[in-house]
Amino acid sequence: MINRVKGTYDVLPSEIKKWHYLESKISEITSKYHYTEIRTPIMEYSGVFHRESELSDMVTKETYNFKDKGNRDVTLRPEGTAGIIRSYVENKLYADNDLTKVYYLGPNFRYERPQKGRYRQFSQFGLEAIGTKSALLDAEVISLASEFIKSLGLKNVVVEINSIGDFESRSKYQKALVTYLTPFADKLSFDSKERLQKNPLRILDSKDPIDQELLVNAPKPIDYLNIESQEYFGDLKKYLECFKVEYKINDKLVRGLDYYSDTVFEVKANIKDFGAQNVLGGGGRYNDLVKELGGPDISAIGIAFGMERLLYALESENLFPEELISLDSYIITLSNDEKKYGTMVLQCLREAHFNVDIDFMNKSFKGQLKKALKENSKTLIIIGEEELKKNVVQLKNTKTEEQQEVNIKNLKEILKKVLEN
Ligand code: AMP
Repeated sequence: MINRVKGTYDVLPSEIKKWHYLESKISEITSKYHYTEIRTPIMEYSGVFHRESELSDMVTKETYNFKDKGNRDVTLRPEGTAGIIRSYVENKLYADNDLTKVYYLGPNFRYERPQKGRYRQFSQFGLEAIGTKSALLDAEVISLASEFIKSLGLKNVVVEINSIGDFESRSKYQKALVTYLTPFADKLSFDSKERLQKNPLRILDSKDPIDQELLVNAPKPIDYLNIESQEYFGDLKKYLECFKVEYKINDKLVRGLDYYSDTVFEVKANIKDFGAQNVLGGGGRYNDLVKELGGPDISAIGIAFGMERLLYALESENLFPEELISLDSYIITLSNDEKKYGTMVLQCLREAHFNVDIDFMNKSFKGQLKKALKENSKTLIIIGEEELKKNVVQLKNTKTEEQQEVNIKNLKEILKKVLEN
């Protein structure tokens, strides 16, 4: 037997409806906010992700890179944004639309240490609004994210926002941070010590307890915003109020990727057994990525949610609707003689858009009943010799156990009523 690749998982038939449910909620929220789906390839030329300015671990240490047979460097996408921007630039989407609002859904690959909720192949739902630097647009993306999480029924949703400022503010802040941390350089964790030279902002993201302690009194990005960035952040807060989004300012929030500037945010929910992994999604504004990938000087904002984490949250809070796992009806015939009649009933109900199934294994009555209950069928349609003669069926509600004889002519109507109750 060959097992699945380490860090990957199978979505089995028993689980797929949960994915479909989540996907339907994504489709609802994205149409409401006027975002259209974009599907880009899972593999891209390595240069799309491995850019000079991108020094995050995710890109430098965790990507799956290989040479194809034409000796080209190819990378499996570790995240959605860079590939979408590559496509935006290559297809000159800016020529037709001043603002492009797209969403995506699909697998990403990161060579991380697999653990609960962390995989090497995982899926993200995300969106990008490309075209302008606008605090209103930032607020709309954050509003969508917060409404999406609430629409799933998740409670205690917290939206955390921060501003890391524009290039000028960030440069000033980085200098201040390096000046503050340099005397403690020997105490910093290995990774943070490295980052002190290359990418000091990322130290704020460190989970190392000693780093965190050293950071308590460190300068904060928000105190180094120039007037423009301050005004931008002020506008963002006002627009969030217009959208009725409740938010908290987290002045340490920087996010894991290097291309962000100004607005960064995360959506968290208080989930029973989540602990520290309570970030369901996050994102921010990026001003240079379009230019870096060969396009015009256009600013954008995006967010990504981890699908597995969302599904896990819905599971642990018991928020999947009941119909996900149930059939409308299962047809049981007392002997094989009624199979043809049963098949006609099956077809007639399927034509009327009911979800119905029948036994294919010539099981006994008991065996069919067991199967119907295992499939969580809401009703049973039982057909024996008598029913066949009289052109009727026995319709049983599996929850209430109520059973009635129904003339085949009225079956669709009565089944609909039983299901509605
Ligand atoms: P990031 O792209 O790192 O900002 O992550 C955005 C979201 O994707 C996170 O909040 C997680 O829910 C999810 N995510 C990131 N990496 C993984 C992974 N290795 N396995 C599962 N989910 C992940």
